[in-house]
Amino acid sequence: MTQDQEHIKIQNRQKRKIYIVVLVISVIIIIATGCALRIKRNKDMTQNKEYKKALIIGIDGMDPKMVKTMMAEGKLPNFKRLAKIGVQTELQTVFPPQSPVAWTTIATGVNAGKHNIFDFIRRNPKNYMPVLGLFDSKNVFNSTRYSSFITTEPFWKKLGKENIHSTIIRWPMTFPVESFNGESLAGLGVPDVKGFLSGYTIYTSTNVELDKDSNKVEKINLEQGSADTVVYGPRTMQGSEIKDITAPIRLERINDKNLRIINGDQTQEIKIGEWTDWMKTSFVVNFFTKKSGIWRAYLESIEPFKMFITTMQIDPEDPVTEISYPHNYSSDLAQEIGSYYTLGMPEETDGLMDGVLSEDGFIKHIQQIEGERNKMFWREFDKFQQRDSGIFSFVFDASDRLQHTHWREKILVDNPPEKIQYAEVVENYYINKDKFIGEILNKITNDVALMIVSDHGFTSFERGLNVNTWLKDNGYMTLTQDITDENDGSLFEYVDWSKSQAYSIGFNAIYINKKGREGQGIVDNKEELIDEIINKLENIIDKKTGKKVIYKAYRAIDIWHGDELINAPDIVLGYYPGYRTDWKTAIGGFTVEQITDNKKKWTGDHMVDKKFVPGTLLTNFKINKEIVEQVDIVPTIYKILDIKLPNDLEGQSIL
Ligand SMILES: [Zn+2]
Repeated sequence: MTQDQEHIKIQNRQKRKIYIVVLVISVIIIIATGCALRIKRNKDMTQNKEYKKALIIGIDGMDPKMVKTMMAEGKLPNFKRLAKIGVQTELQTVFPPQSPVAWTTIATGVNAGKHNIFDFIRRNPKNYMPVLGLFDSKNVFNSTRYSSFITTEPFWKKLGKENIHSTIIRWPMTFPVESFNGESLAGLGVPDVKGFLSGYTIYTSTNVELDKDSNKVEKINLEQGSADTVVYGPRTMQGSEIKDITAPIRLERINDKNLRIINGDQTQEIKIGEWTDWMKTSFVVNFFTKKSGIWRAYLESIEPFKMFITTMQIDPEDPVTEISYPHNYSSDLAQEIGSYYTLGMPEETDGLMDGVLSEDGFIKHIQQIEGERNKMFWREFDKFQQRDSGIFSFVFDASDRLQHTHWREKILVDNPPEKIQYAEVVENYYINKDKFIGEILNKITNDVALMIVSDHGFTSFERGLNVNTWLKDNGYMTLTQDITDENDGSLFEYVDWSKSQAYSIGFNAIYINKKGREGQGIVDNKEELIDEIINKLENIIDKKTGKKVIYKAYRAIDIWHGDELINAPDIVLGYYPGYRTDWKTAIGGFTVEQITDNKKKWTGDHMVDKKFVPGTLLTNFKINKEIVEQVDIVPTIYKILDIKLPNDLEGQSIL
């Protein structure tokens, strides 16, 4: 071999070597890429899992502190099981943390400045009068026409346009009902047959005085063994007066424990401590028209006689106004599962607080409501399971009312509390929901993405600030007459608007008496005044406890944005836990003292700063976001159902 030949051989060997190295590197790259692709695909599999359906369960007021504590105590094994598959975390709530505002944000994916729900109570700027914020209503030819204040589409409307089916049961603020691709039964906001939010009747041989006109007392004398009385139905104009239409019922004492109730052709017998089944009454409005209502009675005692009748609910089989879409949905449901509570807030918390419905009666009533809701849920769940795609949303809300009335924490006295205090019934409620979630986990198929959400958490309500009294004492409001314990000047009866710069209506709101906006507005430039009031609010000290009352007060423009900001309060109040706006402020009333003890059985609340009462989120998938906001729920639903995200959404998908 010549030197040249030897050289070529070496060169070839080196080339082969380089070739092999390149080949090996290439193979490594290919394998690595393959792995990476496979990893990515696996990741996609776990993340998206080819979801075709979404199940959203709302539990109003489900508190993350409670969930965490009870999970740690081993009392919520199915919450734990779900948290292991996906997550259990806080769901940040909105300004202010009130159910109508929060559920509307969860449904629309936007802030209140766009959806137009700012508080339970709005105001008419022209005459300063409080207006119920749940729906708008007008009387047209002796009948009530309802409309919604909400100005943004909920997710089910958008899904409908993409041919995706939705079932939306008891979602707050869905009254009045609207058409879409699917079916809905309206929740919080549905009125009674009169158009009111509640109104019980107490039948008694004792003397009872009530402070709300919507609740009634019927004096009963059962000494002769029976009594003829009435139930109260819809209202109608008689001449120039609005009157309740009544229908006769007869009460017969069977013995010292049992009572017979005769209502038209329906007769029911109940024992002390028992509720009747649903009773149906047909009220004669005029020669041509009858209106139907449903009610239940609870017998407290025979001697003295005490019987409680629920708010007269809209009959789902013959509704005086639409409560479902399509129209016959509420009736079909009743025919299948039996009649049910239709009122937006059916829990008779007023009866409990007024001492005319016993604790025992109230708890049994909550159990009935939950029992009916469970029947509704499983009926729709079976249908949902059979569908290939779509969404099923169901909101439970007895949880909220039970916590309002059975929260036992005393933050202002026992600070910081060692442990959250609540009545056993609250704990049992969570335990029952745990079993319910267990059943869902056993039944849902792999193509279902599950989200369990709450609108806010809970804290105590121990002291109430009368914001109007505070504004008056600080020179922002002028009254023509002094307030006394007997005369609270509600509906701003004694306000001299020509000398008042600000006022409060609702539970977290202050409005400036702005020139050109308010009927008798006097303030030209409100910005400086807002700053001044905010500064003072944040420095209020409760003399009794020595504590600060307001954590933060917010300018509307700093927390909201959108076209509806014109309807927003100018200042939003974020209270410290333990404090809240008092009841009288909400309807433009005053108290003698600025801050008073909450003496009602309404011991828990959430209308504080949003920081203190986040809601809860549980999912059956891992999430990609650390802090989850309510506006993130809609984009997540769209991602699950493979819908192109609209540009105007405020949140991001967590999936
Ligand atoms: Zn609540």
